Amino acid sequence: MALFHPQTVSVVVFVACISSVLAADRPNIVFIFTDDHAPHAIGSYNGWLKDVNPTPNIDRLASQGILFQNSFCTNSICGPSRAVIQTGKHSHLNGFMRNGNKFDGDQQTFPKLLRKAGYRTAITGKWHLGTDPQGFDYWKILPGQGAYYNPVFRSPTGTEMIEGHCTDIVTDLALAWLEEQVNSEQPFMLMCQHKAPHRPWMPALRHLNLYDDIDIPEPATLFDNYEDNASPLRHHEMGIDRHMDLISDCFGPEFPNRTPTNKSRDLSGIRNLRKMTPAQRATWDAAFDPKNNELRKLSLSGRELVRWKYHRYIRNYLRCVKGIDESVGRLLNFLSAKGLDKNTIVIYSSDQGFFLGDHGLFDKRWMYEESLAMPLIITWPGVTPPGTVNTDLVQNLDYAETFLDLAQAPVPDDMQGRSLVPLLNGTTPTDWRKSIYYHYYEYPSYHMVARHNGLRTKKYKLIHFYQFDEWEFYDLLEDPDELRNQYSNPRYADIVTRLKGRLASLKKDYRDDSGTSRFTPQQRRKFRPAG
Ligand code: CA
Repeated sequence: MALFHPQTVSVVVFVACISSVLAADRPNIVFIFTDDHAPHAIGSYNGWLKDVNPTPNIDRLASQGILFQNSFCTNSICGPSRAVIQTGKHSHLNGFMRNGNKFDGDQQTFPKLLRKAGYRTAITGKWHLGTDPQGFDYWKILPGQGAYYNPVFRSPTGTEMIEGHCTDIVTDLALAWLEEQVNSEQPFMLMCQHKAPHRPWMPALRHLNLYDDIDIPEPATLFDNYEDNASPLRHHEMGIDRHMDLISDCFGPEFPNRTPTNKSRDLSGIRNLRKMTPAQRATWDAAFDPKNNELRKLSLSGRELVRWKYHRYIRNYLRCVKGIDESVGRLLNFLSAKGLDKNTIVIYSSDQGFFLGDHGLFDKRWMYEESLAMPLIITWPGVTPPGTVNTDLVQNLDYAETFLDLAQAPVPDDMQGRSLVPLLNGTTPTDWRKSIYYHYYEYPSYHMVARHNGLRTKKYKLIHFYQFDEWEFYDLLEDPDELRNQYSNPRYADIVTRLKGRLASLKKDYRDDSGTSRFTPQQRRKFRPAG
């Protein structure tokens, strides 16, 4: 009988051997993901904060692997970025277009597909998608935004408060799960997802006085007056001057010149302080009270008060980043101590960038560089040459495809990004994308960032605030800070026309037929009272 023909048997045995070799060879994946960590707050990205040396462990990761210089999100806001990563699809197709949406967990996601391919999967920390995670063997997540101190965690078995600082606890949970995988036959994928350095920027107690004794630079655009922008940026509610609260954001003192109450005020800092134990609060106050007393004596106002708030903000932000960096160090040391480092791919990324006083702002959402950029650093031992810097245009849209490709699992046709595996191997496909597509949806809403879509190439950026039908165009090589909107400059007329055509093609290719709602003159007047 054919089934027992010696040749057939040998072929079957050979195929079986190959697949078992492949199974044994499939790498583990440790995906470390943070919230609002801008690339320019990572040393190896060489931004204006690099001299502070904010991230020695993440820099170590970069020196062992590949750093993506042109890495961008599709929609610069927390939940939507995570939904894009889960699905490999733009927001309008995965259904999670704005924070507050509920993620449809029944849809196809990469963790489910990895699990089907034989991986063990886990997530610890921030999830932020409104519905329970699916596709994980283990999950223990922060409800909503989560708390910095003594956070509550949710898992299939219920909720539990764990005392300590959130970054440390999320790392502890990740390490405990990794410990269980050390002798497992199955490859694994862990998502270690931090709350930090998200607002309200509350560092661990051991970091409260870090950076007190050094000068931190200020961004060149701290006092940008937006004279060249289209009108939307002038109407934002995310400025250090008018919208960063001296008490709930900066943990400063009651003060005559404090920030006036504003619609985008966030009281999570005050709520988080109330969650501290008396002992934690005593240490916190001991660190901040003397500095706050200094401010009371100075009686600052105007630009000097903006500077004070910026310096309080950036120090607390970088202190939160220090906690993250220590977490990365702990995870790397664990993998190395257990002999897992040779067959584990480690990825560091964050859901989007962040304004660190750039253009006078905090928060994200805009398609400007500081907020559009995502850090992306990957080590693949034995494959990616150490210290590689890649400049191809990549997006969070590519992560799901990459994870599946790394696991040698099929990538579904309906995913919209591309696997980064060829890039990790050092070869950029000749048909790699020449532009990225972006679409932000929350307006009118918190922080008042008008809806916009646009594209970015390696050289240029085109943005359409379609509700107001206003455009911006930047020559990024000549003007990396995006201070000169060249949309109406005749010198760029041909390029603008060409890029408008390409934007229309991208919308078609990605099947995005939203983004056409233009305000009536009445609506326009309502949202532009100051002209
Ligand atoms: Ca975020």
